[in-house]
Amino acid sequence: MTNGWSPSQALEPVRTYRDFTAGQSLAAKARGLARAAALRALSLGRSPGAAGSDRGGWIRFPFYHHVFDDERKDFGRQLDFMAGLGDFIGLDDAVATLAAGDPIDGRYFCITFDDGFKNGHTNAMPVLLDKKAPAAFFLVTGHVGASLQDDRERLLGFYDSGDLLIEFLDWDDCREMASAGMTFGSHTVNHVHLADLGEAGVEAELKESKQAIETELGRACDHFCCPFGRQGIDFLASRDPGIARRAGYKSFLSAHRGAMTQGGSEMMVKRDHLLAGWGNYQLRYFFS
Ligand SMILES: [Zn+2]
Repeated sequence: MTNGWSPSQALEPVRTYRDFTAGQSLAAKARGLARAAALRALSLGRSPGAAGSDRGGWIRFPFYHHVFDDERKDFGRQLDFMAGLGDFIGLDDAVATLAAGDPIDGRYFCITFDDGFKNGHTNAMPVLLDKKAPAAFFLVTGHVGASLQDDRERLLGFYDSGDLLIEFLDWDDCREMASAGMTFGSHTVNHVHLADLGEAGVEAELKESKQAIETELGRACDHFCCPFGRQGIDFLASRDPGIARRAGYKSFLSAHRGAMTQGGSEMMVKRDHLLAGWGNYQLRYFFS
């Protein structure tokens, strides 16, 4: 105890959105405000499903990172909003529908969560169960069970903006969630940019994480969600979905926005990033 650093004062995880934004840079906050104002204007008069590209049905894949303690009510309100537009569908069924190329006979929402934060268990799951919405959680297996004490370096700066510590799920949380009907998929071992790795490196990230999830949860890990998720920047479309398929995955999820319609590939799934506190007008904009 000679370095003057006291764990008790430094290891305080973020549990509220208020503290989360307080830890972000001013520039990031300004961007958020400007975007909210722009969306509010743009969302006026738009109605989900009314666009010409929505001939027939669709499946949308909203994706979240966290539901903080002060966002549970808003998250429930968002699920109610989605339930007013369509039906919830589990990831296995959504992927099977896309893979079969079957007509999509309605509007469906398949809820997903990236990164495996603990608030997925403490805050998101109770609301999901209450609203009867199945969801899939994508784990960074090297972070599961990470303790704030031992993994401070790894946890700090998980987000680019600021000095934030956010707790991760442990395997007991995951087993409980799986028993409650939640699906688990892989988000790599180390939350890496696949595009920066050679083929063997990508293969290792995909195979080792799949193996860990299957061993710990005693069930198949069929789905892969690419960290950061942008084609050509974070992954190579000509290479990585193929590696995923050879590793035994049945899907590859990206971070590109949009609805999935009949004929869309389950190995290139588009998703809509959401924050749990966003207003319905923001959802309306992204869903239209
Ligand atoms: Zn991620």
